[in-house]
Amino acid sequence: MLDTLTIRTQRTSASRLQQLDPEHIEFGKIFSDHMFVVDYRDGEWQDAQLLPYGDISVSPANSALHYGQAIFEGMKAYKNAEGEITLFRPYDNLHRLNASAERMCMPQVPEELFMQGLTQLIRLDADWVPNTPGSALYIRPLMFATDGFIGVRPSNEYRLLIFTCPVGLYYSKPLRVRFEEKYVRSVEGGAGYAKNAGNYGAAMYPTKLAQQEGYNQLIWTDASEHRYVEESGTMNAIFIIDGRLVTPALSSSILDGITRRSVLQLARDWGMSVEERKVSAVEVMQALAEGRLQEAFGVGTAATIAPISVIGYQGQDHELPQPGEDAFSLRVSAALHAIRTGQAPDTHNWMIAV
Ligand SMILES: *Cc1c(COP(=O)(O)O)cnc(C)c1O
Repeated sequence: MLDTLTIRTQRTSASRLQQLDPEHIEFGKIFSDHMFVVDYRDGEWQDAQLLPYGDISVSPANSALHYGQAIFEGMKAYKNAEGEITLFRPYDNLHRLNASAERMCMPQVPEELFMQGLTQLIRLDADWVPNTPGSALYIRPLMFATDGFIGVRPSNEYRLLIFTCPVGLYYSKPLRVRFEEKYVRSVEGGAGYAKNAGNYGAAMYPTKLAQQEGYNQLIWTDASEHRYVEESGTMNAIFIIDGRLVTPALSSSILDGITRRSVLQLARDWGMSVEERKVSAVEVMQALAEGRLQEAFGVGTAATIAPISVIGYQGQDHELPQPGEDAFSLRVSAALHAIRTGQAPDTHNWMIAV
């Protein structure tokens, strides 16, 4: 245990902040000046450091590279009109990181270590948190095996790293998606609920095939019958049918998204009926044909809400109605934005000051 959380800090001597044009931020390309690094050795986390962002060296035999012992998180920090920086539900990300770690036989990360590393990193790079409308600081924590050993067993040593990058207003063109009925992202009993690296690697090929057909992403279906909706790309899927919010219930094959959780909470706050249950492709397509499907969208940290405009099913494309100004997806997106920027009361205590 780290009883005193002194984090050794080595400041960069060459800030790259001038390279950032706050009006035109490209996602995921320019990283803030520093990163948080801590190693797990001899059964404990040791030597927490804030270092200039940069390349790291690892053993070519480490089992993150060979066997996928690697997990990550995605979260955001916001700067309000007064210049104060807040994090959106960071404890939820930590709990999920630890759930992923357990599934991948990796060590738990103590709350104190994670929150201190995270907040000290963001304070050090506070000037990197943009405040143009719709912008945020995207935060990427990750943990991976570091043993130089090629046998198949959980590593004894790990590295936890947190780095960040400013992101601009995420405008998502309404998505063309199609139901995937051959490949699967995840199976019941598998590791789909964990944010582990391999889930993403294996999803790239079926996604590429769909993109070659002109779709942006897939609606994954369940592995045993290919009948029920799982997720939409790397986002959770939500449908508004007859004015009710309908979304696949969580399971071991579905990732428990924090945006999903937040959207469901706001819908319940507004007295909407929320159904977490199995949702079949047939039900969605029937509701669409009968004009009862009002909206379909993906939810996740990067975009918050990504509306769907076309759904492909068994070789046919079907267009969704254009969401009106009072559409649920627009209202919930605005409500989340207002809470994150301090323009609306944070009744659920989601925002944590840095
Ligand atoms: C990260 C992720 C999500 C979204 O989770 P958020 O906490 O809302 O960002 C959804 N599905 C998958 C597969 C993911 O990896």
